[in-house]
Amino acid sequence: MIPAISLSTNIAISTNLTATSGPNVSQRHRNSNTPNSLLKSLAKSGKLDDALRLIESWPSKFPATEPDVEAYSVFLHACISRRSLEHGQRLYRQLLLHRNGGNLRLLNNPTLKSKLITLFSICGRVDDAFGVFEDGIDDEHVPGQVWVAMAIGCSRNGQPERALLLYCEMLCRFVQPGNFAFSAALKASVDLLNLRFGISVHAQIVKSKEEPDQVVNNALLRLYAELGCSDEVLKVFDGMPQRNLVSWNTLIAGFISQDQIFDSLHTFRRMQIEGMGFSWVTLTTILPVCGRVTALHSGKEIHAQILKSVNRPDIFVLNSLMDMYAKCGTIDYCRRVFYRMQSKDLTSWNTMLTGYALNGFMEKAQELFYEMVESDMKPDGITFIALLSGCSHAGLTDEGQRFFSKMKLDYGVSPTAEHYACLIDILGRAGRIKEALQVMENMPMKPSSTIWGSLLNSCRLHGNVSLAELIAEQLFELEPNNPGNYIMLSNIYANAEMWEGVKMVRDMMEERGIKKEAGCSWIQIKNRVHTFVAGGGFELRNSPEFKKVWSELMKATQDNGYIPSTSVVLHDVNEDLKTSWVCGHSERLATSFALIHTADEMPIRITKNLRVCVDCHTWLKHVSCITGRLIVLRDTNRFHHFKGGACSCKDYW
Ligand SMILES: [Zn+2]
Ligand SMILES: [Zn+2]
Repeated sequence: MIPAISLSTNIAISTNLTATSGPNVSQRHRNSNTPNSLLKSLAKSGKLDDALRLIESWPSKFPATEPDVEAYSVFLHACISRRSLEHGQRLYRQLLLHRNGGNLRLLNNPTLKSKLITLFSICGRVDDAFGVFEDGIDDEHVPGQVWVAMAIGCSRNGQPERALLLYCEMLCRFVQPGNFAFSAALKASVDLLNLRFGISVHAQIVKSKEEPDQVVNNALLRLYAELGCSDEVLKVFDGMPQRNLVSWNTLIAGFISQDQIFDSLHTFRRMQIEGMGFSWVTLTTILPVCGRVTALHSGKEIHAQILKSVNRPDIFVLNSLMDMYAKCGTIDYCRRVFYRMQSKDLTSWNTMLTGYALNGFMEKAQELFYEMVESDMKPDGITFIALLSGCSHAGLTDEGQRFFSKMKLDYGVSPTAEHYACLIDILGRAGRIKEALQVMENMPMKPSSTIWGSLLNSCRLHGNVSLAELIAEQLFELEPNNPGNYIMLSNIYANAEMWEGVKMVRDMMEERGIKKEAGCSWIQIKNRVHTFVAGGGFELRNSPEFKKVWSELMKATQDNGYIPSTSVVLHDVNEDLKTSWVCGHSERLATSFALIHTADEMPIRITKNLRVCVDCHTWLKHVSCITGRLIVLRDTNRFHHFKGGACSCKDYW
């Protein structure tokens, strides 16, 4: 049945115009007045309702005019760009209604079919899309473009497996894959983490007559980058006739996913040297890397590029920039970016808050929290993790407890295991271990290893050996291979001068084959990020300039009252060797190197992969006093800002 909708007056055209195919009618006249051209112009100007009314009244009003594939295609294109499912569905219904009255030609047209499939799948209606796809599949030759549209539709709706099956079925029906099919199959392989399938598609690309285009090459790059084949990534990248921003971004992201931090930074530089520029995606990918290894110099360079850029940076870039500054311990820069942002989202507020909390500026963090609430930004779970962990690091027990009880009551945020872990940490650090244990017993979830770990650290801070032993037992069961737990227990014994205990832990580690993770520190000087490994750096340590600075430091720190404490050394060796081991910790090598290679006033920023040891913490305080330098050390736990002989953590860590 034909829906009885008449054309609205503003698009009414007289039926005698349908007979405009006579030879004496000029081309121009025909183009502007046929129902087909009217349909196109309505669709192009977004008047989809009117266009649809025209389509639905077509059979009765213009029986003599055949609908044009191009006009329908323009209409569907408009539906896709507006994601208007309803208009597409009505068009499809109309086509089915007159299936035998001439519409079969349109229904089987590959362009219209692909467009309908695309429309339905972008609107989340994969089954409807399949309905269109399968209609007539056994009677007709279905060209590649329809298969590809359906495969992309599946991928788009989280069904990559179905996409790959379609690709295989297409090959079984002897439909030659082209570049579109290749890139769809590669994308699905990446989504399924199916490297073997991806490689077989690569083989087909090599054998194909069609030259792979940039989209296919980028898909190949992504395949190898995301599935961890660095060599292949470089091979594809170097063999590409042309590379665009997507290619470079994929290469950088690939390095990062494989933890090849320096390669990613190097690639970003190469990209700049080769005049490639960057996109906002490049920056949101590379800025976290700068934050991770405290590459402040690179981070600042990127900031300068953002400022010089003609386009205004999006909120994601600015949030990443703030995060980088916060992680480099430069909270002033972070604040400047934050207050200059024209619009801020929840991530912006949380990043600023976390920055303050991590760097030990809890007063500022609390002020900011109230500013956030006043500006009608609703805090979430991350907001409270920032506040609670900040309170814990700063020893603000009462404030921490208050935030914990207020988060649900006043802000409707239910505490998760992480929030409980923070509260337990706050109480434990304050020496209120009994209360901490009570919270742990009453919490609605099972205590995680983080919670046991924080309790163990509280025992270390307060010298509670017997409780530490009980907690360590739990931890060894939960995380039998984490060296950090063993080292913590050993330190607790050492602080209590219980050397038998130290030996027991050492034997246990040996028995279980657990090795202490090598300490590693990073600093950036100009464009280069330097890595220092504990006990390593022989060349550096034997260089005359290092020897000079080192012996000057030794003398000055000792004159300043520093006595090396070797209790952190786990191995049973003589005192001299213990001292030399402690002095070879990576943060000391990094500090000495920075003293040689940077100007007198420059702050020294170090990142470390482990928690700083007590002795290095003391040593760094002395060095900051003697040299007058600000030394910012970020370890796995928090920031330490050493200045004038004191640390921002007030030795509470
Ligand atoms: Zn150390
Ligand atoms: Zn500290």
